[in-house]
Amino acid sequence: METDSRNGEIGTSRAIPRADGDVGKVLPTPIASMVKQSNDLLRYYEAMSMALGPMHWWPAKTPFEVIVGAILTQSTSWGNVELAIDNLRAARMLTPRAILKARTSRLAELVRPSGYFRQKAKKLKAFVRFLQNEYDGSVKRMFQSPTLRLREELLSVHGIGPETADSILLYAGNHPVFVVDAYTHRILGRHGITGGKPNYETVRALFEDRLPRDPQLWNEFHALIVNTGKNWCRKSVPRCEDCPLRSLLPATSPLAQFLLAPRESASRAGASA
Ligand code: SF4
Repeated sequence: METDSRNGEIGTSRAIPRADGDVGKVLPTPIASMVKQSNDLLRYYEAMSMALGPMHWWPAKTPFEVIVGAILTQSTSWGNVELAIDNLRAARMLTPRAILKARTSRLAELVRPSGYFRQKAKKLKAFVRFLQNEYDGSVKRMFQSPTLRLREELLSVHGIGPETADSILLYAGNHPVFVVDAYTHRILGRHGITGGKPNYETVRALFEDRLPRDPQLWNEFHALIVNTGKNWCRKSVPRCEDCPLRSLLPATSPLAQFLLAPRESASRAGASA
């Protein structure tokens, strides 16, 4: 069982309705308001969830640590962010007040492992200044703001773009916003769900309009996409053969055609031998 950090709801294991209306395997995922909507996106969720299990995102001890991680993870791997967060924790700097008081140069040294450390130190400073000015330094008070208003405010802070703002809202504040990243764009594009180069807001709306409005579902869905993207849907050489989403790759997609081609020529070669 898990406790929802924002509203204290208790999550329970429950059967996930499948896109075909049947009831799938019971997953240990707290989904409070899953409704029976037959749509393609839930089939994607179901396929990844069945194959990969619960993701337990975001790996952090407090909402403020989630916020720090969301800022530091820009343009770097999570392993590097963990090193920077370990440094901040060892220096007792994982609080808004400590970061507010610290010299930017000292902060930069501590977050050096995350790359672009001078810029990231300035971004952390900008966020805690915003928090102090608008919410008296209280993360809890900040997350009591209405989602859209807070999203606009976060987007106005130096160094916080849509993906970072939405990660903060969803993973630190349990607000209903869907996080879109490069893996989301890549998977949707390769599966022909989106064409061309849709912008961030278009893809965010695509998920938010079609899925049950459930932050727990959206939390898990994004984490599953990241896992699938990282391990299978790689930029240059996708590993479709054993990917959890293989059965959902349309046969007409260029990628599926490419994957089928060698087997067909191999079997033709075998038949003529
Ligand atoms: S099946 Fe292939 S294209 Fe689809 S998500 Fe997996 S690796 Fe990417």
